[in-house]
Amino acid sequence: MNARIARLAAESRFDVCGDCKFNGLIYVAMSKKARLFKALLSSNCRFDCAYCPNPWRKGISVTPEEFARAFLNLRRRGLVDGAFVSSGMHSDPEKVMEDIIETGQLIRKEFKGYVHLKIVPGANKEQIRQAIEIANRVSINIEVAKPSMLNEVVSVKSRYDILRRERWISEEVRRYGNSKSHTTQVIAGLGESDADIIACMKRQYEEYGISRFYISPFTPLKNTPMENCRSESRKRAARLYSIDALIRLYGFDARRIRDVLEDGMLKDDPKVLLAEKFGIARPIDIPGIGPRAAKLIEKGYSLADLKRMGFSVKKATPYMAGQKRLSDFAIF
Ligand code: SF4
Repeated sequence: MNARIARLAAESRFDVCGDCKFNGLIYVAMSKKARLFKALLSSNCRFDCAYCPNPWRKGISVTPEEFARAFLNLRRRGLVDGAFVSSGMHSDPEKVMEDIIETGQLIRKEFKGYVHLKIVPGANKEQIRQAIEIANRVSINIEVAKPSMLNEVVSVKSRYDILRRERWISEEVRRYGNSKSHTTQVIAGLGESDADIIACMKRQYEEYGISRFYISPFTPLKNTPMENCRSESRKRAARLYSIDALIRLYGFDARRIRDVLEDGMLKDDPKVLLAEKFGIARPIDIPGIGPRAAKLIEKGYSLADLKRMGFSVKKATPYMAGQKRLSDFAIF
């Protein structure tokens, strides 16, 4: 394996693509059990994002051919299930996007499975159309939840330009029905409140039709302008992901969630806060109960049944005391 590719795979870890674990060269998406080959085409970058190591050191690059070859070799050996192609801005945005598209085209010559292509700020409309034609999923990162903060962390990205491209992406993806999707990512811990992130998340799902809203907790990196800033806790990101699940999977009204914030922040697990403020109307409202367990409760399974099946019921127990069957649980 090309040593530069291995380095570029490690350097792509700042782009979240799900609950992925980096395993040497391959990212394993835990929920889908899919193994993704995720790497940058280049870690050279002309942009100046203050949280990113790429603009502050000399980077390396590979060609679209080298990237595609590396992926197809891993694929032939049965080591990966899909590819994620991204890049630092080693050249002008249209050239960078052209390289990403070319990589996708080379991969597609031999591979029909999952391909995710990054859309870079500055990509043109036709390039976005081409990228979506090739990929199963595309993404463009909006980076910060609070629009006014973007200029504090990067001088060359414009919120307006990014959202304009996101609008194009959304229109193009919609043409394919459910067979294509797009996602975005924000960094948590740059001075925004939970209320800012929730408002941004809501807008992204409702107005742009994204499939996933990824939250990357800020980590200060050596030799970047933000190396002395405080890192964001994983606990905060986990609470925000709970909100994401409530909005995305259960159709919770984000305005209801705002009612349980204190000074714009979640002080506890959002499901606990919501249950205590609004009570429990459906099994899915029970703290600690996810969609699968909620379905089983609806079918009449008891907490003891769930426990026997391997579900953790510790958090749910205080909210379901004495419950044996659904009919015993008075509030339903
Ligand atoms: S665009 Fe920003 S985040 Fe992406 S590689 Fe360049 S400096 Fe890093």
